[in-house]
Amino acid sequence: IKRIIIIGAGQAGGETAQRLRQGGFAGDITLIGEEPAAPYQRPPLSKAYLKGELSMDRLLLRPAEMYAEENITLLTKLRAVWIDRSNKKVRVEGGRELPYDALVLATGAKPRKLPLVGADLEGVFLFRTAGDVDRVRERFVSGARLVVIGAGYIGLEVAAVARQCGLEVTVVETAVRPLARVTSPEVAGFFLDEHTRQGVRFVLGGQPAVLKGQDRVTGVALTDGMEIPADIVIAGIGVTPDIALAEQCGLTVANGILTDRHCRTADPAIYAIGDCAARPMVHFEGRIARLESVHNAVEGAKVVAAHLLGAKDHTEEAPWFWSDQYDLKLQIAGLFHGYEHVAFRGVMADRAFAAFYYKGERLIAVDAVNKPAEYLGAKMLIQTGRSLPPAVLEDTSRPMKELVA
Ligand code: FAD
Repeated sequence: IKRIIIIGAGQAGGETAQRLRQGGFAGDITLIGEEPAAPYQRPPLSKAYLKGELSMDRLLLRPAEMYAEENITLLTKLRAVWIDRSNKKVRVEGGRELPYDALVLATGAKPRKLPLVGADLEGVFLFRTAGDVDRVRERFVSGARLVVIGAGYIGLEVAAVARQCGLEVTVVETAVRPLARVTSPEVAGFFLDEHTRQGVRFVLGGQPAVLKGQDRVTGVALTDGMEIPADIVIAGIGVTPDIALAEQCGLTVANGILTDRHCRTADPAIYAIGDCAARPMVHFEGRIARLESVHNAVEGAKVVAAHLLGAKDHTEEAPWFWSDQYDLKLQIAGLFHGYEHVAFRGVMADRAFAAFYYKGERLIAVDAVNKPAEYLGAKMLIQTGRSLPPAVLEDTSRPMKELVA
């Protein structure tokens, strides 16, 4: 293999380029990204960056000049538009064709647009890129009225920052509780209480119907007739994997581009990683999942780099994720879907507790709030396929470290 092209210069693409070079790949590496910036981290967008505590430079995975120093061709503001699998070529906007021996699709995901009249009004924002957040930030002034549509992690993080900046915040969620897709009712209830205490208003089970306004948004009308005045509306209603190129060139796609455990698609010369791809979960036998996390993007990069370099298979970490809201640091390991029982260590009133999720007797996930040792301990257990009975984990008289030793 002499030429590797990576499409998508985000977390997964950037990491892959770096790992290939660091791992000793001496051939051409071309990283194609349509955003103006070099690869950067998105998590701070709804946290420190939105608050104005972090500059764009600090978001970058690595300084922009390092790509040239390591002889990685980084092409920004350029979209790859066509893949010719039989001739192993990628066409970019403008018509130039670039040959590859191996191709990595790291195209990420696109934020879902509100399917409503008024979604294009000024003052309505999606939340995916640094550019999106730069535009929102100008409006983040004390007293402004913000409506967040969607109470997932990004929506709640934005609500937390907004309250800290003095905005009036209403969160509209179609489900009857926040975080419905990502955590248990108990943990969701804890976050609902915290936000309510911080002054966030929730409309649960609310169905937005129309965004009101002439040029600029002035409010959100719900199907039940309720109208919420707004200066800013932020949609946090999830993403869809960017599978356009994979579909165009005939790769198998379901919810994401399907790959094997080496992140390889049905075409042995093409890999797919990060938010755009779905693959077998090594710690959850029989499960194929498309995860949206830094962990998943980085693991994908490591798996692909090892495979392309002919190195020993990368040993994957158990899935992990985090969310920061106010002074609460939520750390998650494992995948909670399909859990049957939850055990708590610590109490929510202390604002430091862990929820351990079990399927049968097997520990499958943890949500740890301000409890780093519990997070680390549970992650280690999940990774090594071990479980401790709920009663053992619930017993706070013994430190977590001792329990998992
Ligand atoms: P991306 O980072 O989205 O990169 C894909 C890139 O490919 C994009 O720049 C896109 O423009 C480009 N692209 C797509 N198609 C083409 C094309 N045809 N040609 C050229 N370029 C193309 N994860 C966590 O683990 N913890 C968090 O706390 C957390 N918080 C988040 C907060 C926000 C606001 C957001 C948006 C995400 C957050 N995530 C978090 C998720 C995490 O950032 C993503 O899972 C991760 O960025 C996925 O990396 P990726 O490389 O697959 O996709």
